[in-house]
Amino acid sequence: DLSGKTAIITGSNSGIGLGIARELAKAGADIVLNSFTDTKDDHALAAEIASTCGVTARYIKADMSKGADCRALIEQAGACDILVNNAGIQHVAGIDTFPVEKWDAIIAINLSSAFHTTAAALPLMRDAGWGRVINIASAHGLTASPYKSAYVAAKHGIVGLTKVTALECAGQSITANAICPGYVLTPLVEAQIPDQMKTHNMDRDTVVREVMLARQPSKDFATVEQLGGTAVFLCSDAAAQITGTTISVDGGWTAL
Ligand code: NAD
Repeated sequence: DLSGKTAIITGSNSGIGLGIARELAKAGADIVLNSFTDTKDDHALAAEIASTCGVTARYIKADMSKGADCRALIEQAGACDILVNNAGIQHVAGIDTFPVEKWDAIIAINLSSAFHTTAAALPLMRDAGWGRVINIASAHGLTASPYKSAYVAAKHGIVGLTKVTALECAGQSITANAICPGYVLTPLVEAQIPDQMKTHNMDRDTVVREVMLARQPSKDFATVEQLGGTAVFLCSDAAAQITGTTISVDGGWTAL
């Protein structure tokens, strides 16, 4: 039961971050949603989670590409028992033509943001005598694919940051772990399926199994609910001695 705990999830107005926020709220945690926008819909999402789950939920705008914004998010929230570093973007291009501004943005949002939020959150966790840092890495935090240099570098980097965080917090009832999803069925991924069907002239099932999930042996996407459940598990007493490691939710991708 996570009631009385505050969970901050970066990049959580869609996809995996929102799925994790919902599962943490169902487990009783108060929620801080975040993205770089500040729309009615963003705040409505928080209100909806609050009313369905009977918890407090707020939306706080902060741009995870900016270190000062990352730290301000934690300060504005005022409490942070559970920190989920989830915000992330992707760009696909060969190293020799990779746009420098894309490299910088991916390293800032997918890696450096977690350094800044963790730096701001650890003193709050130490004061509270309990904490959970959950970094959303990727199968690409453990293996590589061509044309994803910045993403793979950032995701390997966040696995390293996770280990250091765990060591610096060892014995303080604060754990740090990275979840490494394979291919997850989010609205963004769902939206790519019709295009892929056209491009490959395949039906939905074939394009999912043979093209999109070519590297995922289970031939099934992970769901945002499953990632949320994994985050809830990492917050449980059963996981109190799990720290500095990775949990793959990838249908066997990294076993290949
Ligand atoms: P998504 O695009 O649905 O969600 C990304 C979230 O980050 C959004 O809420 C977006 O608003 C937010 N965001 C982007 N830039 C931001 C910024 N500058 N400041 C604040 N928020 C920002 O994607 P997703 O698939 O849900 O991805 C979430 C995380 O999971 C990412 O770190 C991604 O690398 C990782 N991941 C996704 C998959 C997958 O298959 N979808 C697989 C492995 C890892």
